[in-house]
Amino acid sequence: MATIFSKIAAGEIPSYKIAEDDRFYAFLDINPLAKGHTLVIPRQETDYLFELDDQLLADMMVFSKKVALAIEKAIPCKRIGVAVLGLEVPHAHIHLVPLNAESDISFSKPKLQLPNEEMGAIAEKIRSGF
Ligand code: 5GP
Repeated sequence: MATIFSKIAAGEIPSYKIAEDDRFYAFLDINPLAKGHTLVIPRQETDYLFELDDQLLADMMVFSKKVALAIEKAIPCKRIGVAVLGLEVPHAHIHLVPLNAESDISFSKPKLQLPNEEMGAIAEKIRSGF
């Protein structure tokens, strides 16, 4: 059965898209830790990031770098933090989170819920710098 993230990458479930190519898809986390919090996924359905083939994992990190640089251009922050959890959605993904302080990437703090218009505007701003 397709994962929710596969359905997002296929356009069957809506998302705030940031970037895509034939192997990867990047979109805003629906409950972000910080404005601009983005998820990068491989189109290939694999649960655990470290089960990916070496080359796909390396290329995913390069794709994530391009996304991170675009987030940095759009969102005022000191740098982009990187995290891998995968405790909620069993489809490999990398979290990219704009950081101004260590606590900005604390997954135990309450997540943000931003209005649709603001999520759309953030995605558009990041996309334009990709
Ligand atoms: P993890 O699996 O890394 O523990 O957490 C999954 C992340 O995916 C969470 O930060 C959650 O907010 C996000 N997420 C879960 N379902 C959806 C969804 O349907 N759309 C989007 N954009 N993000 C989601």
